[in-house]
Amino acid sequence: VIEIKNLSKSFGSHEVLRDVNFSVKKGEVVCLIGSSGSGKSTLLRCVNLLETPSGGSIIYNGDNILDNKHDLEEYRTHLGMVFQQFNLFNNLNVLGNCTVGQQKVLKRSKAEAIDKAIEYLEIVGMSTYKNAKPRQLSGGQKQRVAIARALAMDPEVMLFDEPTSALDPEMVGEVLKVMRALADQGNTMLIVTHEMEFAREVADRIVFMDKGVIVEEGHPEQVLVNPQHERTKEFLKRTL
Ligand code: ATP
Ligand code: MG
Repeated sequence: VIEIKNLSKSFGSHEVLRDVNFSVKKGEVVCLIGSSGSGKSTLLRCVNLLETPSGGSIIYNGDNILDNKHDLEEYRTHLGMVFQQFNLFNNLNVLGNCTVGQQKVLKRSKAEAIDKAIEYLEIVGMSTYKNAKPRQLSGGQKQRVAIARALAMDPEVMLFDEPTSALDPEMVGEVLKVMRALADQGNTMLIVTHEMEFAREVADRIVFMDKGVIVEEGHPEQVLVNPQHERTKEFLKRTL
């Protein structure tokens, strides 16, 4: 679905991503791992154009969406994003959070948007909270709402940036369980995570980044159990 070619990103003279190449295929779950500051969030933000890449291309279903001919807003509607800090609209209730984008961006009717929202709130186990405000929810519940909100837009690819790292330990499990179910259902997912056990279980492929470059990628067993590169070995030693 998405192919990243020779992607680079600099902030001023600071080169944060260098010549990054990788792809996410339909139905694939790719986990992106690496130490803090290695550029994982920047890469995800480049994929959904929250950051403008300094160079390279992003091929979406065969088209380079950076070639100036493409409607970037339209492209973005095909990606669902889940952030570390949930980013819910605090003034809207749960249902409002899950319908506003559908109505504004996808031009769905209110009734249709509500139906969709309820469908996905049920999947993440949050439909009984549909009238609650975000401040009344726990972190794990907020994140599950954020996931439902993204899914209700029918994205082709779901992007997750450390969806559990702002959560209290007892709430990590409920969010990972939802993500595991999504992976099992064949959703296409690109996930930045520090949860190595989760990555090993759900990922079709693991990509290890260090200092803005992809050092190594492959099957979870290969990358996590039998890494080829010294930097991967060191990273895994530190995280275990
Ligand atoms: P973490 O695991 O801590 O989330 P990360 O791998 O996601 O780390 P990034 O957030 O992508 O890392 O940051 C990579 C580098 O880019 C860091 O050195 C950071 O300081 C720098 N950086 C990120 N965003 C900006 C920005 N908007 N302006 C300047 N520098 C930035
Ligand atoms: Mg990050």
